[in-house]
Amino acid sequence: MRYVSTRGRAPALTFEEAMMTGLARDGGLYVPESVPALSPDEIAALAGLPYEDVAFRIMRPFTGEAFGDDALRGCIARAYAGFGHAARAPLVQLGPNHFLLELFHGPTLAFKDFAMQLIGQLFELSLGRTGRRLTIVGATSGDTGSAAIEAFRGLANVDVFILFPRGRVSEVQRRQMTTPVEPNVHAIALDGDFDDCQARVKDMFNDFAFRDEVGLAGVNSINWARVLAQVVYYVTAATALGAPHRAVDFTVPTGNFGDIYAGRVAQRMGLPVGRLVVATNQNDILDRCLRTGEYRPTGVLPSASPSMDIQVSSNFERALFDAHGRDGEAVARLMADLRETGGFRLAPEPLGRLREAFASGRASEAETLATIARIRAETGEVLCPHTAVGVKVAAEHLGRNPMVTLATAHPAKFPEAVEAAIGIRPPLPNRMADLYQRPERVTEAPNDLAALEALIRDRRAA
Ligand SMILES: *Cc1c(COP(=O)(O)O)cnc(C)c1O
Repeated sequence: MRYVSTRGRAPALTFEEAMMTGLARDGGLYVPESVPALSPDEIAALAGLPYEDVAFRIMRPFTGEAFGDDALRGCIARAYAGFGHAARAPLVQLGPNHFLLELFHGPTLAFKDFAMQLIGQLFELSLGRTGRRLTIVGATSGDTGSAAIEAFRGLANVDVFILFPRGRVSEVQRRQMTTPVEPNVHAIALDGDFDDCQARVKDMFNDFAFRDEVGLAGVNSINWARVLAQVVYYVTAATALGAPHRAVDFTVPTGNFGDIYAGRVAQRMGLPVGRLVVATNQNDILDRCLRTGEYRPTGVLPSASPSMDIQVSSNFERALFDAHGRDGEAVARLMADLRETGGFRLAPEPLGRLREAFASGRASEAETLATIARIRAETGEVLCPHTAVGVKVAAEHLGRNPMVTLATAHPAKFPEAVEAAIGIRPPLPNRMADLYQRPERVTEAPNDLAALEALIRDRRAA
């Protein structure tokens, strides 16, 4: 299996190379040259299998020669062993034909653990064979950084440095980054906001001498291996609800479009997915684009669902590539327009294709909190604010197929928003109930490239 760039001007790579590279050299995102298909019988055979077995069968055709069967099975087993639920991604019924897919039983209580835990194991395996050592540097507004630290803590061939804006992440998010004791993880509280964190990481990647010296690598949401890991739970959910004999709809709380794009990949593999519904908060650029054809970032408004507060939705480029008949030149032109004129307008044909693939809706702040309160009253379930955005939008798209809304985080990760909605602070699960007692270890750093590079050189050598 080869991977090609959405902008058509970077060399095709293997799975392993695409995973290690992240962003293509032409600025594009890697996608598989073709999507392997599963027959209805093969899908039926997945029903009821353990999550790890489904993961192996779904991912195996995409990973190619990079990993042997036993090695891949081992990575999958280690990735999900620490989850707090035997089903990994259990379904809970919310209404007559509406289900929640709980994706928050991983170590940092958000769905990003599904991909990040696996990518940690795959990196370790790949680096162990070559004897290479990498330095992972990332910027986070909360969930990605904690998931990356959990995934790479204690691994032998990787140092991980996460920059977060000092004083601007939730206490649970901060503690998840600052309490791991392993010497290869480094939480850095930057004197700046999230955009500063992202800008300094970008600067480091553009400092080629530094980049080569420390073996810089990224694991942000555009990494194809992360998308692939997320395909699996669409399959376990749909087969549990009757696929391949019955189609299933999904609603996905969306920011960078990685999670919902995984649903699109599952559909292209042959899973009978009826509708894929993009749910956005008040930062509704994707909903507006699907309705009007105009993609124009207007500035981020902070919301109760911060992991969906985005300006530019990076994985949307993969959907644009598909909608333009996999024409990399066309995608490169749109991205140049975005950079040079602040937006782009889709032609009628690609817009039509996008609308065939994706429905959409949005939830205001008031609607998000009202949905947490309503669902609590109707069912006793307590939703996180991201999931509440999804449930609000899903309710507008209920049809004959079962609807599955992805529950992307545990409510205890966002206690302030939940308390504002229902007056109750949701407790942390037992296995991390002592999070508030564990000692924190954090390095404060100025918003300065040279100082950050010196810090990273110093710490990774230690
Ligand atoms: C990252 C995140 C999202 C958005 O997922 P994308 O793949 O970026 O669309 C939604 N909810 C939570 C809790 C997240 O952490």
